[in-house]
Amino acid sequence: MKSYAANESLSRGRRFDEPRPAFRGEFQRDRDRIIHSTAFRRLVYKTQVFVNHEGDLYRTRLTHSLEVSQVGRSVAVALELNEPLTEAICLAHDLGHTPFGHAGQDTLNACMLDHGGFEHNLQSLRVVDELEAKYADFPGLNLMFETREGILKHCSVRNARELGDVGERFLERKQPSLEAQIANIADAIAYNNHDVDDGFRAGLLSLDQLREQPLFAEQYDRVHATYPDLEDRRLIYEIIRRMIGTVVTDLIEETGRQIAAAGVTSIDEVRDADEPLVNMSPAVYEQHLSLKRFLNQHLYRHEQKLEMTRRAQAIVEELFDAYSGDIRRMPPEFADRAASLAGAERARVIADYIAGMTDRYAIAAHESLVC
Ligand code: MG
Repeated sequence: MKSYAANESLSRGRRFDEPRPAFRGEFQRDRDRIIHSTAFRRLVYKTQVFVNHEGDLYRTRLTHSLEVSQVGRSVAVALELNEPLTEAICLAHDLGHTPFGHAGQDTLNACMLDHGGFEHNLQSLRVVDELEAKYADFPGLNLMFETREGILKHCSVRNARELGDVGERFLERKQPSLEAQIANIADAIAYNNHDVDDGFRAGLLSLDQLREQPLFAEQYDRVHATYPDLEDRRLIYEIIRRMIGTVVTDLIEETGRQIAAAGVTSIDEVRDADEPLVNMSPAVYEQHLSLKRFLNQHLYRHEQKLEMTRRAQAIVEELFDAYSGDIRRMPPEFADRAASLAGAERARVIADYIAGMTDRYAIAAHESLVC
């Protein structure tokens, strides 16, 4: 590994001291704890873009997290950075996501407006720091500082003040590790590409529309020139495979250049840099952003998706109102905790309960409200 990679021997460690693992590295242990967590298993029934029951082949938040990790690890290995740390951050980045994707997150945030709001990335940290109850000696998963720091991609100044060590960099305007920076971009690369596949599969995006996107068009032209008779399904797969390759290769090369130009030799110098050092080149980044805007407009806001969004909003809102009106409608472990609290703290327990729900659990819980 390079001298500026995150290194467990220089780590700020765990919140609760533990003996070192005998046969694994500290960040491998973090990754293993994340995979064994309850929140991780729930991701299989949480929406990425399509609600779980809409089809068996669409990405779920679990397969999304695996694809993010795959991209992140490739980049980390190519740049001789810390692969297990990158993997751990990628796998954990969405642990705090609500049911029903962004519709769920936005609605819960609106419900929590007077109580400090709701942000899924802050919630991911809350899951690994507090909500997972598995270990006898400590709350949460007791992960390494660098893993926790990487999970917290962004955060308001007010929240940063309350978070202690992992919040500091937002107040001091410092960068996180290169591994955290990779995980952040790997997330965007993964969804930009897999959402093209899912959107096309669902019939919400057409080849003609996609060909207006430079990133897609460039690969389309190449594949079509070599394989003019390829059926659409295989054509799309081949294009997406090449789009990921193009963007990831560019990211590795550009980041290598930026690291060299900045002349960093340690993780502290990475943290002190004015800007993140993990970046695509400006030209490829522009194409990546264009595709992202296109998906935003034509897939995430597609009329068929908006219908699901409205239903998800109603479910989350009505669940929040019902539990706020009568906390005993929640299971005892949440109801008991809520009973000992008031105001914003009580609302947070309700948000924790709803955020932890899978799509189908939320639908069933909502149906049981009217009984
Ligand atoms: Mg994600």
